[in-house]
Amino acid sequence: MKNLALHWKILIGMAFGVVFGLIMSNFDFGKDFISDWIKPFGTIFINSLKLIAIPLILASLVKGISDLKDISKLSQMGGATIVTYMITTVIAVSIGLIVVNVIKPGDSISEETRIELISAYESDADQKREVAASTKNSGPLQALIDVVPSNIVYAASNNKNMLQVIFFAILFGISMILIPPNKSRPIKEFFDSLNEVILKIIDLIMSFAPYGVFALLATLIVEAPKWDLLKSLLLYSMTLILGLSVLIILYVLIVKVFTGKDPNYFLKGILPAQLVAFSTSSSAATLPVTMDRVHNHLGVKEEVSSFVLPIGATINMDGTALYQAIAAVFIAQTFGLDLSLGAQLGIILTATLASIGAAAVPSAGIIVLVIVLSQAGIPEAGLALIFAVDRPLDMCRTVVNITGDATVSMLVDKLIKKK
Ligand code: ASP
Repeated sequence: MKNLALHWKILIGMAFGVVFGLIMSNFDFGKDFISDWIKPFGTIFINSLKLIAIPLILASLVKGISDLKDISKLSQMGGATIVTYMITTVIAVSIGLIVVNVIKPGDSISEETRIELISAYESDADQKREVAASTKNSGPLQALIDVVPSNIVYAASNNKNMLQVIFFAILFGISMILIPPNKSRPIKEFFDSLNEVILKIIDLIMSFAPYGVFALLATLIVEAPKWDLLKSLLLYSMTLILGLSVLIILYVLIVKVFTGKDPNYFLKGILPAQLVAFSTSSSAATLPVTMDRVHNHLGVKEEVSSFVLPIGATINMDGTALYQAIAAVFIAQTFGLDLSLGAQLGIILTATLASIGAAAVPSAGIIVLVIVLSQAGIPEAGLALIFAVDRPLDMCRTVVNITGDATVSMLVDKLIKKK
């Protein structure tokens, strides 16, 4: 067991978690037992990953940027990163629209099932709509304002403010390059060393990963909704999974064509991060693992991975964007609405923006979906339709989200190497 590769250990932990959850679902005390004695270990695992996210971003970004020695390289990298992120997101939404229009999963939902699903999940959906409403009423430049913190200690105290911490770290790193090297040396050595310590902490946390994912999956199984409800959403779920799979294949091809790296090399390198993303449903919680895998196993330079990945975790969510397109059209189909070409093109724009605005945490996608629905004139009540299966699909889209980030970091690395 000791010499087994990490991804095998995590996969075994996941499999045991599913089996244990299934066994416990057969006992009356099973659910309580898992929530009292097993679930806490899953929560501890997620917490320890989140715990390290902000210090990691700060240390690795400051180190990465101050290693650059040249500001023009940073602006090249920044431009390449943002443009590539936008392109991959628009491609993701377009794939989603094609798949959902071809398969038409909404047409298979009867009026009766629709009413049943909506009444079962109405209150859950209302909660998400309330959260969305509070973000919807801000001005057009609010997203830009939100990037600049007014207090760094306050910003760093909340994982949701990751972009603000990134902003501060970039400013800090740039200023280190701008002052004479003899003046910046002590602080550079401090951040280099802090970075090493944090990477060690991630190693330690990851040795607990097989147990953490065991707990997360066992909990998920006992908390899953009844099969009857899930069954009616099977075609919708399969449509989304098909779209996400197409996107993964596309990433593998992009990596092969642009960097020459084998699909096997890429997938094996990123697999442990994908498994953690699947188990935690959070790109932010997975970030420490993604950064470790991309730098140490996919050979991306630290100055690139430390810049591209934290930004990607917050703004590049291809899986979420594809999901927005499929979910919105699916809901429209179940309500018998025919979306015009214009409305579907509008979805490309709003789903792209909504995925940028979505936080890298579980269920963020379904909250911002409200914005896509209201822009396209689709009933927001439809949110309740897809609620039952949202968690497992969230797990799948999070895998795609971090794989997209890894793909873009390999591209940017290649681009920077060339120059
Ligand atoms: N859970 C996803 C993530 O963290 C966001 C979403 O809900 O789609 O990447």
